[in-house]
Amino acid sequence: MKIYNTLTKKKEEFIPLEPNQVKMYVCGPTVYDYIHIGNARPMVIFDTVRRYFEYKGYQVNYVSNFTDIDDKLIQKAKQEQTEVSLIAQHFILTCKQDMESLNIRPATVHPLATNEMDSIIEMITMLIQKGYAYPKEGTVYFRTKKFSHYGSLSHKNLEDLQSGNRTLLVSGVAQKEDPLDFVLWKPKKEGEPFWSSTWSEGRPGWHIECSAMCKKYLGDQIDIHAGGEDLIFPHHENEIAQSEALSETQFARYWMHNAFLNINHKKMAKSEKNFFTVREIAEKYSGNILRFFLLNAHYRSPLNFSEDLMLSAKNALERLITGIEKLSTLEAQNLSPDLQEKERNDQKQLHSLIQKYEQAMEDDFNTADAIAAIFECIKLSNSTANQNSSLAYVKECKTCIVQLCSVLGIDTERANEILDEEIEELIAQRTQARKEKNFTLADDIRKQLEKMDIILEDTRNGVVWKRL
Ligand SMILES: [Zn+2]
Repeated sequence: MKIYNTLTKKKEEFIPLEPNQVKMYVCGPTVYDYIHIGNARPMVIFDTVRRYFEYKGYQVNYVSNFTDIDDKLIQKAKQEQTEVSLIAQHFILTCKQDMESLNIRPATVHPLATNEMDSIIEMITMLIQKGYAYPKEGTVYFRTKKFSHYGSLSHKNLEDLQSGNRTLLVSGVAQKEDPLDFVLWKPKKEGEPFWSSTWSEGRPGWHIECSAMCKKYLGDQIDIHAGGEDLIFPHHENEIAQSEALSETQFARYWMHNAFLNINHKKMAKSEKNFFTVREIAEKYSGNILRFFLLNAHYRSPLNFSEDLMLSAKNALERLITGIEKLSTLEAQNLSPDLQEKERNDQKQLHSLIQKYEQAMEDDFNTADAIAAIFECIKLSNSTANQNSSLAYVKECKTCIVQLCSVLGIDTERANEILDEEIEELIAQRTQARKEKNFTLADDIRKQLEKMDIILEDTRNGVVWKRL
């Protein structure tokens, strides 16, 4: 299996630290708002990476944090006149719901920064003891230049960084020994949440949180560290410096980064109204369609999101599901049980398509080519499976296609495809049925919706529904 490693800028053969085990850390979102489609891309991609490893028999220890304390959360809490912890709780919950709608499996552990203060403070203390960090008036800084290979992930050298930072030096961060030094701990401002430490009542910097959580849950050395490409510098560069300064061993063997997502060929920006949350998209397209869309491009290619592209993703997924349904219909018929001699060739072709799929996935998780291979399977089954086929062949086609989809987290059951407008339509039919005192029909519609995880509630103001 080959993975493109940002550290070496090469595709490298994946060799796990321990046989059949993968230790993987993926930087999670800062929970001050609903997740947007740009947050969803790495979540879907690295969930797919995890699923593929599991398909190949690896045991994956997958850790992904929630950053539940930072300036944005504090600002939001002020705006809403509430506590930071309540903002965090709310958006962790909604993030988990959105992840579920995208069929992203929960991580092995989802640590929260605010629950890990002991480990974070301990790590900063050890960095100070080793001379890699220093406190100044309540703030603790990392001594960047002391870490000899700083810049190795982002392929920047210290001189370049320094000239870029000159403005910082004059703009008055005077307490730093060096403009490249970054914050590990900062004192609270009036009214901000804080934790006690020997340096000050304050809170950790963002970078040290990930280093500390990664160390606690996965150890000093991990196989894969992943995130969006915007995290390469400074976040991941700083994580490497902090973790390796302490452990004196390589922190992560493989660094995976996904490329940007644009909306209508423009950079996503809230201010430009060029911005969508996963929830907004879910009003029109199911999470399954969005996931399918996100996987239709290689993760290292920039991806453009537009209405047209979502529509074509929807149609393609429809073709895929129809192909599987055709096999299910055949399965229910009275076919001869055993594989026939004339089917051997088709079966061979099916096997070679599975291989093609695996080759694509093992070439740095090329999900675009993997999906193309699934469509070739559909094309094959559409043209070869019919009433004269054996049950063995039909079953094998179906199992294979469903499995290849499920490794990508693509749901092949139509039930989850239901859209808001279709739900509204069914509810209208049910209301009509009740008016006509046709309670059996009304009840059937309710049950039908329940099967699709849609719950109805009759209120004084009419029917309210929600997805489970
Ligand atoms: Zn991180």
